[in-house]
Amino acid sequence: MRKKYIAGNWKMNLNLADAKDLASGLDAEIKNLDGIDNVDIAVCPPFVYLQRIIGTLADSPIKAGAQNVYFEANGAFTGEVSVEMLKDISCPMTLIGHSERRHVMGETDELINKKVHASLAGGIEVILCIGELLEEREGDQTEAVCERQLREGLANVTADQMANITIAYEPVWAIGTGKTATSDQAQEVHAFCRKVLADIYDDSVAQATRIQYGGSVKPANAEELMSNPDVDGVLVGGASLKVSDFTGIIKAGLACG
Ligand code: PEP
Repeated sequence: MRKKYIAGNWKMNLNLADAKDLASGLDAEIKNLDGIDNVDIAVCPPFVYLQRIIGTLADSPIKAGAQNVYFEANGAFTGEVSVEMLKDISCPMTLIGHSERRHVMGETDELINKKVHASLAGGIEVILCIGELLEEREGDQTEAVCERQLREGLANVTADQMANITIAYEPVWAIGTGKTATSDQAQEVHAFCRKVLADIYDDSVAQATRIQYGGSVKPANAEELMSNPDVDGVLVGGASLKVSDFTGIIKAGLACG
């Protein structure tokens, strides 16, 4: 059985004091929960706070990861952060291809694939985000978009390397909008993505790979979403900024574990 994986994306929010309070508040709330080792938990603070939050969570089951990374090792890439730099501050994981990177910053599947390879080569675990725009869903393109983003994002990633990849299916129309995919819509796309993974790799990789759902997840809908057989956790934006909400989502993950 796949272990549920709950990750929080803090995006460009908080200040240092609030970020530290959020991290330590979460740790205090969750570490004594029964069966807490039965879920994986991560938070992704803004880069400027990442090293401090890794320190705050040093003795916690919660790991702190990056929201993004660049594929080059070093050099004239103003404003970018490399895998080497993440390793230097003991950062274990990163999001790649979040919808805001794709659709606000213009990242392509090709660039995302380079970032995936650089991260895996450096031993950094990846959450690869995929998902369709509203017009793509309305145009019946959801499966085609998810399949393309999976095939191109994972191009030349080996079956062995898939052990360090989690997929996050995040319909763009559900991110930050308050509109959540229904439980059935989420399950349907997750099952489809698993079929694509079986086609790219094989059934055992497809069965072992965790697929998170993301898009307006809250304590009130988290358990229903994660009780689907192919929903292996959630990637949470807004509701990861409040200790009580994110704790409620972690409890929902434990209830489904
Ligand atoms: C996200 O940032 O990945 C996300 C799903 O945001 P929200 O939960 O706020 O919709």
